[in-house]
Amino acid sequence: MNHQRRRTRQIHVGKVAVGGDAPISVQSMTITKTADVEGTLQQIYALAAAGCDIVRCTCNEAEAAEGLAQIVPRSPIPVIADIHHQYRMALAAMEAGVHGLRLNPGNIRRPEHIKAVAAEAKDRGIPIRIGVNGGSLDPALYEKWGGIRPEAMVESALQEIAYFQDVDFHDYKISVKASNVPLMVEAYRQLSEATDAPLHLGVTEAGPPPAGLVKATAGIATLLLEGIGDTIRYSLTADPVEEARAGRQLLEALGLRERKNVDLIACPSCGRAEIDVIEVAERAMRAFGDRKIPLQVAVMGCVVNGPGEAREADLGIAAGNKRGHLFVKGRNVAVVPEAEMVDALVEWAEFIHEHGTEAALARVDTALAEREAAKDRAKLLQEQGDDANHATERIVEIRRTVGG
Ligand code: SF4
Repeated sequence: MNHQRRRTRQIHVGKVAVGGDAPISVQSMTITKTADVEGTLQQIYALAAAGCDIVRCTCNEAEAAEGLAQIVPRSPIPVIADIHHQYRMALAAMEAGVHGLRLNPGNIRRPEHIKAVAAEAKDRGIPIRIGVNGGSLDPALYEKWGGIRPEAMVESALQEIAYFQDVDFHDYKISVKASNVPLMVEAYRQLSEATDAPLHLGVTEAGPPPAGLVKATAGIATLLLEGIGDTIRYSLTADPVEEARAGRQLLEALGLRERKNVDLIACPSCGRAEIDVIEVAERAMRAFGDRKIPLQVAVMGCVVNGPGEAREADLGIAAGNKRGHLFVKGRNVAVVPEAEMVDALVEWAEFIHEHGTEAALARVDTALAEREAAKDRAKLLQEQGDDANHATERIVEIRRTVGG
């Protein structure tokens, strides 16, 4: 894949670099009350384990700012305070030691307040995200552009930048999120032409999965493939851990971040399937969980086509004749009873991760495993022929029915 990433300036949110040639980072937001220090930290730890690089917590009241003072030093990842209406909360969050701020220009509009926050952030070396949101656009811009338009969102960001420049503050990134995917995509395209600041991508209020995942992926992936975007967040109506996981998985799927966990692929199943592919794939997913095994593992419904179709996978299993045929890089390595398929997959994945593919192939008689697979394949072909869906019989039946 050849997508040229647009060059942006680099900023640092705590220890995480954003923009320039830094890896694209994953963000999420806690949904606990920030004043609940232990509850919030628990969620932050779960997010970090799921691949979140930067976390945002709301700072909407004095208790939240006080909570942040205790959360920040114990958080494994940088913490950003989310500020909406009260600029004083931004000052309080900085006092609490946060690594970054997010300001919504639609909600804090007095220039002197914006400049006061930027000047303080400059003194403390804290970056700010200008977080424009289609739904809370400055009413004056809404009116000027006749609605929530990409141009209005970009202008809102540029206005905020101008205030920042007045106090010589340049340590910012920008987002122009909307819940409408084409609008969001166009706003980011225009924004990336207008600035070299790092961009934070997101489809806001995407909703619950699976529709929310589809919407967020449609917007974020489109832009990433155009080389736009330095950090991302999935805004899902779900456990934020799902947001972090989705963000991480998207970047891995696009080849933008190194794989951390198992990439489980599975055939969609068909008339040839010898097992309940959905059930076995789900069981395998649960068995691998968040284990740090960066391999591609395949679950295939039949030994007739499975090993060939998944030959690029590091490891896989295909069902046939009540047995599971394990294959490594397309080569049969072992046969196990159907009930032990998932356990065997995990065991082989761990072995390959630790010792490598060559060692895995060397530990067994691949010729013997191939002979066993060939036997089951031949048996299945004999039973089902090339026609897994029994089309010939069906056609005869259809003709009989139609012919009346
Ligand atoms: S691997 Fe076998 S069961 Fe799965 S879709 Fe292909 S032919 Fe069907």
